[in-house]
Amino acid sequence: MLKPASHILKTSPYVGGKPISLVARETGIAEAKIVKLASNENPLGMSDLAKAAYNTAIHQLGRYPDPDAHALRSKLARKFGVALDQVVLGSGSNEILDLAATAFLDAAAECVYSQYGFIVYSQATQRLGAKHVQVEAKDFGHDLDGMLARCNEKTRLVFIANPNNPTGTYLEPTAIEAFLQKVPSHVVVVLDEAYNEYLPDHQQFDTVPWIKRFPNLLIARTFSKAYGMAGLRVGYGLGQPGLIGWINRVRPAFNVTTPAQEAAIAALDDRAFLARTALLNAQGLVQLQQGLKALGIKTLPSSGNFLLAQFEDASAVNSYLLTQGVIVRPVAGYGLTTWLRISVGLPEENAYFLKALATHISKTSEALSVA
Ligand SMILES: *Cc1c(COP(=O)(O)O)cnc(C)c1O
Repeated sequence: MLKPASHILKTSPYVGGKPISLVARETGIAEAKIVKLASNENPLGMSDLAKAAYNTAIHQLGRYPDPDAHALRSKLARKFGVALDQVVLGSGSNEILDLAATAFLDAAAECVYSQYGFIVYSQATQRLGAKHVQVEAKDFGHDLDGMLARCNEKTRLVFIANPNNPTGTYLEPTAIEAFLQKVPSHVVVVLDEAYNEYLPDHQQFDTVPWIKRFPNLLIARTFSKAYGMAGLRVGYGLGQPGLIGWINRVRPAFNVTTPAQEAAIAALDDRAFLARTALLNAQGLVQLQQGLKALGIKTLPSSGNFLLAQFEDASAVNSYLLTQGVIVRPVAGYGLTTWLRISVGLPEENAYFLKALATHISKTSEALSVA
């Protein structure tokens, strides 16, 4: 009889967006025809500079990666104007979130995060056997005052996503700054900025200077979203050396592969690619918002590369879309049972999704739901 740790008994595995290969097998639709708008990936893939660097790295694969990822960390340190020992890399920023939990949570600790906050926060808390303090959302976003009120001497970690996934909600920097000023200094605040590079101009704000003032702040960013490198698994954390030091204690040595390190270095040089990505996303968001509105479907404003849309029967809409080779993301696991999350794709992919949805609506009563 296997005896897993008691706090693991209650957990369940992460369920991600359905892979294209799986939907191809299930529907018989060719992989090339499937439109995946389910995992907030960059529909452009990754920059050509990054691809070239990845290919070159193949010659080094007989050796272990640089466990300190010196070149990539140096480049990030220069980019953000911080010291080398203020940068830590993760296998995706997901690992940064996990490592923060591993370093700071134990069974006696409490972790505060928001209702509808990114699912990894609750999973990381559960994996460490710590106590969940999930604070009711405000307008689908974080209620920072409510979260502050739930911090006590047992609190070790707070997760804040800005913008948040899956809701796309945005927090004003002044509100986060006020939170950081008031939160007790023994509480590590992880500011998860996975979609930072997608923020529209009027919401752009440089949070990195905050780490000088707040020794308990860990900023998490990733190459998976706007940089289009989700398959390579590179993310990073920025914080004061003391905090980064604790993360390094629990970080597996070779957690970021050589091709991933090299591709990330090259990706940082391709500013034009990031700009093209942001523009494509801004236009795609408008295309989806207007298309859904025309179909009588309610959406939430989003600061990311995805949006939430509300349906009478989200599960039926999802099933129908799958039969048409369109993969979107059910978010019932968040308690958002009437919503689906749709990632922004290429213009033709967005159009294909809207057309498939229109067909479904014309055949059902879905159109009557929220209009
Ligand atoms: C996608 C995402 C991440 C991390 O993704 P990685 O691929 O592990 O870098 C972190 N936080 C949020 C809110 C996300 O949506």
